[in-house]
Amino acid sequence: MEVVEGVGIASGIAIGEVLLLLDEETVVFKENIDADQVEAETKRFDEAIDEARKQISAIKDQVSNKIGEEHAFIFEAHLLFLDDQGLIKETKQYIASHHCKAQWAFNQVLLSLLQQFDELGDPYFVERGKDLEDVGKRILKILKGDDPFGFQNLNQDIIIVGSEFGPSNITTFDNPNILGFATDLGGQTTHTAIIAKALGLPAVLGLHDISHRVNSGDIIILDSIKGKVVINPDAKTLAEYRKSKAAYKRDIARYIKATEKDAITKDGQSVSLLANIEIPHEAESAMKFGARGIGLYRTEFLFLHYAPDFPSEDIHYETYCQIAGHVAPEPVTIRTLDLGGEKFFHRAFVKEKELNPVMGLRGVRLCLFRKDIFRTQLRGLLRAAALHANIRVMFPLITSVDEFKTVRAFVSSVADEMQAEGQNIRRNLDLGVMIEVPSAALVADHLAAEVDFFSIGSNDLIQYFLAIDRANDDVNYLYDPFHPGVIRLLKHIIDEGHRAGIDVSCCGEMASSPLYAALLMHLGLTNLSMNPASVPTIHHLVRELNLSELRRLVPEPTSFMTGDAARTAFKQGLRNLLKVKSYKHLIENQGRKAT
Ligand code: PEP
Ligand code: MG
Repeated sequence: MEVVEGVGIASGIAIGEVLLLLDEETVVFKENIDADQVEAETKRFDEAIDEARKQISAIKDQVSNKIGEEHAFIFEAHLLFLDDQGLIKETKQYIASHHCKAQWAFNQVLLSLLQQFDELGDPYFVERGKDLEDVGKRILKILKGDDPFGFQNLNQDIIIVGSEFGPSNITTFDNPNILGFATDLGGQTTHTAIIAKALGLPAVLGLHDISHRVNSGDIIILDSIKGKVVINPDAKTLAEYRKSKAAYKRDIARYIKATEKDAITKDGQSVSLLANIEIPHEAESAMKFGARGIGLYRTEFLFLHYAPDFPSEDIHYETYCQIAGHVAPEPVTIRTLDLGGEKFFHRAFVKEKELNPVMGLRGVRLCLFRKDIFRTQLRGLLRAAALHANIRVMFPLITSVDEFKTVRAFVSSVADEMQAEGQNIRRNLDLGVMIEVPSAALVADHLAAEVDFFSIGSNDLIQYFLAIDRANDDVNYLYDPFHPGVIRLLKHIIDEGHRAGIDVSCCGEMASSPLYAALLMHLGLTNLSMNPASVPTIHHLVRELNLSELRRLVPEPTSFMTGDAARTAFKQGLRNLLKVKSYKHLIENQGRKAT
């Protein structure tokens, strides 16, 4: 048994068999077959070997003709593997004894052979291992046909382990047999983590080398609450985790049920809990989780859905109408396109490689750079808002009052153009900004005079303020919402927004963690927007909390000198105030990862 620590996304516990997903060519999972299918499967394996032989012979001839026979000998060696009766016989025996598909059987035999080559440590065998791997990939590809991941055939529960998965990979993990995933890279506020939470998938990220520590078929426990992975657990640990998993499920079910009641603290402060969504149909589940509206619709995921094309004006219009209609009369905040950084699906947009994509052409800058795309989105939005009074619009990555004014003027010009065409649009739409760049935060007083509302994007705000790439697991430990500078910046934004009488909310991941949500409430914030699955937990926190007591127990947050002092004080305060044991556990384990 081995325990590895990383960054958990607090979406539950999963226990299952590993499927190592390093690259699509080598992805194989176990598919069982009936005893009477063994013969046909063995035949299919023979045919795959024949096909591989044909393909390699063709390559050998090609190489021989083009660059000379002396180079073709490599493929001669590859062909010899296909005659290796040991490899073939063992695979067939595996199919017969385990009643599984040929690709799984072959992969198991291949991996064990490769390991033996590796253990010999002799350079000759290392090279032979590479040849064998190459031939193996070819055979696996033939056996799997055109279905690279093959998730549609998945008929057993698995936990995916890999180096890193992008947000678009994660959407393909939406399959009841995929119990969760673990990665070497990544952190709490990456979009991969955000999508995983939205799908309710337990995940632990930033484990550095988990993809080298496990093999397909190993049993692991993913504890996304504590941010731990247990590899090949012993019976006692397994039994304990099965219990915790069941308890977690029971607690969440109880919290969901309680969301029928309003989120009001014990001392009468009402807190509005909204949801962040990436996919329109999440609006429905968000309401089931007890959200009272959508605080952030990340429309870049609509672009992802249609990539490499762009959504048409009608698609924008229909999508926004669908969401607004679903949650009416509750509010919906639609954020305009926020591509860039790690969220890049349309490479055609900008130069092939930006040196610093997170500080490059992203968010509203990209919209102003490609006004054609921005215009199409705004047209759909203005039409949808004419029909749905609950829609409001928000712009990402605003850095100054000037930039906001430029955007507002552009919205106005699009509205003029549509009115001239006789379109039915809404002109007096509420326009808000994400406060996610330190410069915008510091001029919050000036911005508050211009905009209709603020939404604090703590994920980016902390990234830019503390100079920490939110996706880099090596510096993730520095990503600290309790950093005294961050606390002061948050207070400034909240106070200035409130002083100007505008609505202020937080839609960054901070809002979904009990410990940080408590900090935000202590600072006076009463609008929190988070991934839908976190709403019941935060709802529970709000109802358990006496805010005036918290303020009495935890001194003014801006007075702390270090992040650790603030964290300790909040943990202690909540520990004293909250009754439920399992819930305390969430507080203990949320917080900065130790260095
Ligand atoms: C944020 O930066 O906090 C935010 C909510 O936006 P995103 O995570 O989509 O960048
Ligand atoms: Mg952001």
